[in-house]
Amino acid sequence: MSTALIIGVSSQDGSYLADLLVDKGYEVIGTIRRSTNFYQENIRHLIGKIRVEAADLTDSESMARLVRYYQPHEVYNLAAQSVPADSWSHPYYTGEVTGLGVVRILDAVRLHAPNARFYQATSREIFGGTCGVATENTPVDANNPYGIAKAYAHMMTKCYRESYGLFACSGILFNHESPRRSLHFVTRKITAAVACLKNGIEKPPLDELGNPLIDAGKIKLGWLESQRDWGYAPEYVEAMWRMLQNEQPKDYIIGTRISHTVADVCRIAFEHVGLDWRRHVETDKKLLRPTEIEVLVGDYGLAEQELGWQPRTSFEQLIRLMVDADLERFRS
Ligand code: NAP
Repeated sequence: MSTALIIGVSSQDGSYLADLLVDKGYEVIGTIRRSTNFYQENIRHLIGKIRVEAADLTDSESMARLVRYYQPHEVYNLAAQSVPADSWSHPYYTGEVTGLGVVRILDAVRLHAPNARFYQATSREIFGGTCGVATENTPVDANNPYGIAKAYAHMMTKCYRESYGLFACSGILFNHESPRRSLHFVTRKITAAVACLKNGIEKPPLDELGNPLIDAGKIKLGWLESQRDWGYAPEYVEAMWRMLQNEQPKDYIIGTRISHTVADVCRIAFEHVGLDWRRHVETDKKLLRPTEIEVLVGDYGLAEQELGWQPRTSFEQLIRLMVDADLERFRS
């Protein structure tokens, strides 16, 4: 039986990856952070199927201890300070966790399980200032603290591969969403708001500024013309697994080659329940990023050719399935 260590199993991707690996017969060890309010919705269904351990990316020994003890065949790092918008208010912490934290795992693997295969969750935000179509050869041009921390981790993963011969690779993933996406992210914020409005929820969840997600029938968003290449998360974790089954460690772009605006997300989500999005959405300057990333889509050609991977769920299907899941979640 193969053993996989998933750092950040409570994340959207970590939980889907755990589902995939449990189905494939892996022994899965997943890490969570110590939390005062223990509430791990994404992994509740996995309790009893995986082992859960506490570890933090700021604590080298917590990483080394797990790698040393479990001797995993595969290590997936999905943990990070993962919210680009928050990285301006937490630049040091973002560098510490999203950047340096990855070196703590790489070193643990190098010293204690050098034959383990390592996956790093790189983001398209490493190309922040670049527009057009990204391939694996597109130069790094990050333009926010999150993207810069991810670029550092991406390059350190390459460095450990080339310097120490580790099987270490990065998936350069474009945005991917699902019903397990955190409410910090715009797609989920919109689908949750639509469900609360449709179901007449009086006490909606709070948004990232600590205000009710819906106030007087309206949701507050940032720049509506902002564009992203959005895919479906369960398909993206399959790509991660395939990368670690490859003969050689290599980095791959995972995306859909298509971009849409935030306004498109609103239109599809509200129309799905028969509402007019223009009556319920307003922009809030406080939610604008100091610098936006350029319009860029991900060319997944290499992954298609070498890993047999391609996206299957369309953008419209994705938004509708997220609305349906939130209608179910926010029933009363
Ligand atoms: P997510 O749901 O936002 O979860 C982030 C995870 O990191 C959570 O499990 C969180 O734990 C954990 N974490 C945060 N700080 C930590 C620390 N100091 N020590 C240990 N764990 C810590 O992430 P996601 O959307 O699934 O994305 C997975 C990874 O892919 C992330 O690294 C993200 O940056 C990257 N990525 C995501 C996308 C995307 O569109 N989703 C695209 C490209 C790359 P808590 O639950 O305790 O907060």
